[in-house]
Amino acid sequence: MKNLALARKWRPKNFETIVGQEFIVEALKNSILGDRLHHAYLLSGTRGVGKTTIARIFAKCLNCHTGSNPTPCCECSSCVEIDQSKSIDVIELDAASNTQVDNMRELLENANYQPTSSKYKIFIIDEVHMLSKSSFNAMLKTLEEPPEHVIFILATTDPEKIPVTVISRCLHFNLMQMTNDEISGQLQNIFYEENIAYEDEAINMISKHADGSMRDALSLADRVINYTNGNVSLEKLTQILGITSDGVIDELLTNILDNNKQKVLDLLNKLKEHHISYESALKVLSEKIFAISEEQTFGGGNKSIQRGKQVSLQLLQTLYQISINGLKDLPFSPSQHIGFRMTIIRLLNFIPTNNVNAIQLEKEQINHNESIENHEPKKKKTIENIQIDNWDHVVDQIKPGMAKTLAQNCVVKSQEDNFLYLIVDDRFKHLNNDKYIKILEESLYTIYGEKIKIEINEETVTSTPAQKKQIEKDDALKVATDSIKTDSKIENILNEFDAQIIESTIKSTKIN
Ligand SMILES: [Zn+2]
Repeated sequence: MKNLALARKWRPKNFETIVGQEFIVEALKNSILGDRLHHAYLLSGTRGVGKTTIARIFAKCLNCHTGSNPTPCCECSSCVEIDQSKSIDVIELDAASNTQVDNMRELLENANYQPTSSKYKIFIIDEVHMLSKSSFNAMLKTLEEPPEHVIFILATTDPEKIPVTVISRCLHFNLMQMTNDEISGQLQNIFYEENIAYEDEAINMISKHADGSMRDALSLADRVINYTNGNVSLEKLTQILGITSDGVIDELLTNILDNNKQKVLDLLNKLKEHHISYESALKVLSEKIFAISEEQTFGGGNKSIQRGKQVSLQLLQTLYQISINGLKDLPFSPSQHIGFRMTIIRLLNFIPTNNVNAIQLEKEQINHNESIENHEPKKKKTIENIQIDNWDHVVDQIKPGMAKTLAQNCVVKSQEDNFLYLIVDDRFKHLNNDKYIKILEESLYTIYGEKIKIEINEETVTSTPAQKKQIEKDDALKVATDSIKTDSKIENILNEFDAQIIESTIKSTKIN
């Protein structure tokens, strides 16, 4: 028994040991208890979620010699034979290898005979969507007038491919993918029972890699156990999977965003030494970029993302697109290694050289917003809070109008007690009048709860909020222009039609 694969050994034998799928299990149990059985059930769901396992348990419930009930005895000859796939009254068919109508006719002829030693004759047809059209037609005839003792349990990964005439005669259950937590929990139980040492991180990685399939999780666990002689460690697991631990990709992405080329190169060389799967590395990288975007859009999602790492959403979109394209292009690259490195180079090329400033600027914005959202008793803001470098944020809070335009074209020169001295850009000096200054003073009173006197001088200035916004827009336009110029699809179109890009028509989608 020691060498029996975990997936087979730990296959649930009754409804109580099934992990997840509570609603379906409950519905099937109730249909037995209430004696409301259908002649055909359809179980759909991705591979490895337990469709045939549930089908077999249901068959045991129906045919148990102690009488149909939701908790089969698992000891009578019917239960034991179903567990061993030997029951003469439970016929299992894999449609993937029996698509011909003859097989189906043979099967359905069998349906007309009474069960040999049980209450029902049960047909479990796996991957039923693979049946040919004529096989489905043959089946439909039986489904339309099913013999009293016949029950079909159909399983499929692709219900879309089953004719609606068949689906409409089935009670359809869609099995949910198992969550990572459900898989992790089950793995912990099994490892404990099997006396296998494990690391929590390794369990988490197996769950993540199994992508909702308990069967995949267990077969991966089997591989690690065989490879390590019963010690499931993260290090061995990453070797088997040919993947990197998340930490290395985190570090790589951080340094790409910081435009730290030397460190990126060091990491690339380090990755090469470890013979990783570049496909999985690119997938993890895309996941990380997605996670940052999600964190920035909805907030509070992924705790593993450093909040300090603020990059514009537009840039993240571009980076995501590049890494996904890199993944698609990987099979066409001279080698996986070159394909991966090329993608990293493209990512680096799209990091604006002023990104460090952009990060700083956005950090301030975030901190600022957080302080506004903070529900703790607010510290009273005073004139000391208005600093030259947060004038932009003050301006953002002023209501739109000419006074705001005036503020947008001013910089703070100095401040003294409750006096604020500003300089207005020469070109906007016509707005420098008492009416707008009064509105600005009122706005500051609303923001700071304190009377602040404003005095504005006229000079040539170059760093007003409006001017800074324009520079940001120019940068965004440059990124957009670069991305169009380096896009291989656009290049193909240009060559194909002998066309030209009119640069003046390019617009950045960043909304300001
Ligand atoms: Zn039984």
